[in-house]
Amino acid sequence: MYDLAIFFYCLSLIVQIGATTLSITLIKQAKHYQLGWFFLGIASFLMIGRRVSPILYAISTGKFNIVDAALAVPISGCLFLGVFYLKKLLTDTEALKNKFEEIAKIDCLTSALSRMEVFERAKLEITRSMRTHRPISLLSLDIDHFKEINDEFGHHEGDEILKGMVGFLKKNLRAIDFIGRIGGEEFLIVLPETNETEAMEVAERLRVNLSYFCCHKHCGKEIKITISIGVAMIALEKLAKKTHDAEDILQLYLDNADEAMYVAKRNGRNMCHLFKPHQNNIA
Ligand code: GH3
Ligand code: MG
Ligand code: MG
Repeated sequence: MYDLAIFFYCLSLIVQIGATTLSITLIKQAKHYQLGWFFLGIASFLMIGRRVSPILYAISTGKFNIVDAALAVPISGCLFLGVFYLKKLLTDTEALKNKFEEIAKIDCLTSALSRMEVFERAKLEITRSMRTHRPISLLSLDIDHFKEINDEFGHHEGDEILKGMVGFLKKNLRAIDFIGRIGGEEFLIVLPETNETEAMEVAERLRVNLSYFCCHKHCGKEIKITISIGVAMIALEKLAKKTHDAEDILQLYLDNADEAMYVAKRNGRNMCHLFKPHQNNIA
């Protein structure tokens, strides 16, 4: 009986050490409610003492309580399993959170950046440019007569065209440029470290090359589209002295790029237009 009691106490001690180790890793892993995980770790650690003391007592006096020894095993076992599943819950929740964050960043149809993400990245670029004084250009891009394309080929084919176009645009941009879908068939391209002359060259190249590119095939027939692009360069040196933050600056220049895009539409579509404050009647 004495050996059995010592065996139970030793077994529960090992399991308790396992539970405590897991609890301590939880404190490090948890990003929220760390105080709660901390107290769980402390309680688990202190319980090691409760497992050691009966062993020392039994060895020194030869006295033991077999019921207490037998109960120590399931108590430590349940504690270990509880902490184990809490750890699993934390790991799964973290993975799910990362997955949702990833989904929120990417437009699921076209794989362009989502509206939220492209604006966030554009704001980061603006903040960086405030330090480096390098220009940034925005291209506001809208597909011409896309409603007619949908009407002719169907909405599903329209979706495929959107995917094909974004694939083409991504391949034809630099690694530092990025594209986001900000509306149904409206996209924003951000060109860091690019002045208005270079941005117009990029916009023209994209526009012309896309007009020859087959975005999608329908019943063997190549579907081609044209786009209108409004270009606006963010002139940070003019803004640096004012109290604008990145959000205000982005909004201002998005409006400018949009305005330029509508001028391109009004002038006949399938063209690029550079925003000029006086020409476009915007301050
Ligand atoms: P404009 O040259 O003036 O831009 O003409 P438009 O027909 O492209 O513009 P309008 O705003 O009249 O229509 C936009 C069309 O884009 C209508 C809408 O059905 C289509 N569209 C928006 N989002 C999607 C989408 O996710 N998939 C498909 N297939 N079509 C879309
Ligand atoms: Mg359109
Ligand atoms: Mg549109």
